[in-house]
Amino acid sequence: MIPAILPTYNRAPLSFVKGEGSWLIEADGRRFLDLGAGIAVNALGHAHPRLVSALTEQAQALWHVSNLYEIPAQQKLAEMLVAETFADTVFFTNSGTESCELAVKMARKHFHDAGQPERVEIVAFEGSFHGRSSAGIAAAGSEKMTKGFGPLLPGFRHLPFGNHEALQVAITDQTAAVIVEPVQGEGGIKPLPDACLKGLRDLCDAHGVLMILDEVQCGVGRTGRLFAHEWAGIAPDIMMVAKGIGGGFPLGAVLATEHAASGMTAGSHGSTYGGNPLGCAVGCAVLESVTEDGFLAEVQRKSGLLRQGLEGLVAEFPEVFAEVRGSGLMMGIVCTAPNTEVVQAGYGAEVLVVPAAENVIRLLPALTISDAEIGEALNRLRATAETVQANAA
Ligand code: PLP
Repeated sequence: MIPAILPTYNRAPLSFVKGEGSWLIEADGRRFLDLGAGIAVNALGHAHPRLVSALTEQAQALWHVSNLYEIPAQQKLAEMLVAETFADTVFFTNSGTESCELAVKMARKHFHDAGQPERVEIVAFEGSFHGRSSAGIAAAGSEKMTKGFGPLLPGFRHLPFGNHEALQVAITDQTAAVIVEPVQGEGGIKPLPDACLKGLRDLCDAHGVLMILDEVQCGVGRTGRLFAHEWAGIAPDIMMVAKGIGGGFPLGAVLATEHAASGMTAGSHGSTYGGNPLGCAVGCAVLESVTEDGFLAEVQRKSGLLRQGLEGLVAEFPEVFAEVRGSGLMMGIVCTAPNTEVVQAGYGAEVLVVPAAENVIRLLPALTISDAEIGEALNRLRATAETVQANAA
């Protein structure tokens, strides 16, 4: 019999009832060190007092009015994002997937209204992940995500990650946009080198193509800059944001330049919940925290600490771990042992990590993780590796 919850997830038999910073408390009282942060969502950890008070204050005042009316918290968050980034304008969504939908629509509409309706193609990369909607799976293009779901949204072209020659050929006068994650998340924590991102920007400029960056997973301070593309010294035309921006409240956004957004006029797009007062009140508190003096420098410092420890574990347990990669507090360990066994052994050591493609485990801790907690994470990952090693013997 089909379960009450549609069985699309493989869930671990863990049921968390409370969160405190980097910790999750299981129903039986065990305290797990959370290095997954809800898959890069709980940027400030669980139950951060600032977010709790932003949410409860807003909840006591007003939950929802719809986008028929002005929403002060939405206006404030949009203005903050515009001030902090390349963007001139913002549309709020509820998820990364919805941000993908709008990014694709916006790029196509831009060229339609600019008198180039033939420019509809979106160039995307193998191994990418942009969400589970029809546009999202068409953008990713993998058989795993698309098989069985009927005709796909047309107009996507997929290139191998990092193949520059293929890119030169793929961009034509039919291309509207290139969509890419500066750091592939689900694909196995694969940073696109800064030089490649710069090269891609130049190529887009040379061909008048819009650059869409998917910073749903790598954005909002995750890599130690507010947005990952800042490391390469470039800016996109359109950027997808979600996850960390809501700190655990469902919130996403599409940021764009005035030029890229030129086709989006009243009635061209909408969302009932997008930019709702609750989400935006939390979003403002997240963004205020992440942009506070010294916050991102701390993320970078802690990244160094974590990375150094992880490199040590790789050297100590070559039968379990092969390589560390990533940026900021978006780290991946390529495993020698099956990554699912490592995740499983982690449960035994009361540490949560997240699997990704290419036999990687992801470490996406709260950006507020302390030095002591990083030390504890390394201890628990060592215990995890010992278990995996013992099970293999
Ligand atoms: N884009 C990237 C890079 C992601 O990592 C994800 C989710 O993991 C998405 C898009 C989809 O976001 P959501 O699950 O919020 O719809």
